Amino acid sequence: MSLSSESVEYSEAESAPSARRSLLNFEPNALESEVIAIGLPRFRACQLWRWIWRHGVTDFADMTDLGKSAQALLAERFHVDRPAVSRRQVSSDGTIKWLIRLGDGQEAETVYIPDNNRGTLCISSQIGCTLTCSFCHTGTQRLVRNLTVDEICGQILLAMDELGDWPATRLGRRLTNIVLMGMGEPLYNYESVASAMRIIMSNEGVGVSKRRITLSTSGVVPEIARCGDELGVNLAISLHAVNDDLRDKLVPINRKYNLKTLVDAVRAYPGLSNARRVTWEYVMIDGVNDSEADARALVHLIRGIPSKINLIPFNPWPGTAYECSDEQTIDKFARIVMKAGYASPVRKPRGRDILAACGQLKSDSVRLRASKLEAVQDAAASQS
Ligand code: SAH
Ligand code: SF4
Repeated sequence: MSLSSESVEYSEAESAPSARRSLLNFEPNALESEVIAIGLPRFRACQLWRWIWRHGVTDFADMTDLGKSAQALLAERFHVDRPAVSRRQVSSDGTIKWLIRLGDGQEAETVYIPDNNRGTLCISSQIGCTLTCSFCHTGTQRLVRNLTVDEICGQILLAMDELGDWPATRLGRRLTNIVLMGMGEPLYNYESVASAMRIIMSNEGVGVSKRRITLSTSGVVPEIARCGDELGVNLAISLHAVNDDLRDKLVPINRKYNLKTLVDAVRAYPGLSNARRVTWEYVMIDGVNDSEADARALVHLIRGIPSKINLIPFNPWPGTAYECSDEQTIDKFARIVMKAGYASPVRKPRGRDILAACGQLKSDSVRLRASKLEAVQDAAASQS
């Protein structure tokens, strides 16, 4: 796959900050309060909600049943703008990557991956990451900030605009699945991520089912149960090592929440069944975590938990000391995992092509994103 087939850069002018507040921040009750606070009747909130979340209308003047004075009042105080797009890349196979620019000039990335009868959107939850996983390039970048609810939802709306895929108008669903596998640790921005997911899951709006949303975490244990109880979305865990000594190095949050604590939290995740399994992400790093003994320890560690395992060949980035395991080693590892009864898809080699194409376009950070894209493609392939 080549990502160079179309690349469009956009001008600075599009990201001018607005004094008006974004209505994309509000869940139904909060939207109602805002509407009442400016003197409009409660039922206007329902109408607004449908225009925003089912029709994708961005101009209050086009919300025809609101009435002229309500339209003017809303336009004075609020907006429903999407993030600005700094760059859009379209691959020959339909994958689209948007580099989005936020009100304060910060940038994040959103990726759309079409595949047979589904389309998966990978969204970011933070700019940078406070965690320092040694194999992940984001781990070398400090956290700039959490994304807000409107910025998380905005990534989804932007994709729906571009795909022409609004519930009220679409002919076929192009955006069916969402994965929180972009930049950042979603469980360190739990409140905003949760609020955004509730908005997106609402049947009166976009209506993406919780079964089609996957949240990937490095293992923020105290938030895992909450995520299951409150949102019930699919869970993916960045495991990457099967003993505490190694995981302390690869995924340092392990020093705070060790493997036992993590595995116990996953075992207790509500709603797990053979039809609804947890995904364990496991990056294959040469000579570090890729032995046959590691594979056996992995299946032992997760015994009894309905699971899928995603083996992700490590993607190198400038300055890293790690290398990717060779094909034979990955094969052997996958065989042991499969023999134990777990599906273990290995990333398709097409990711390497993306890496090359992205490397030409933008520096190191895009290489990182390409590596994440692979994880997302694997997750997308195994979602219902
Ligand atoms: N912070 C969350 C979600 C974002 S990272 C988490 O850690 O789960 C999503 C996935 O990107 C991680 O599981 C990891 O498997 C993958 N990833 C990051 N850097 C990578 C690299 N250099 N090579 C391969 N996969 C990588
Ligand atoms: Fe952060 Fe996830 Fe990268 Fe770890 S793997 S540094 S948690 S983005």
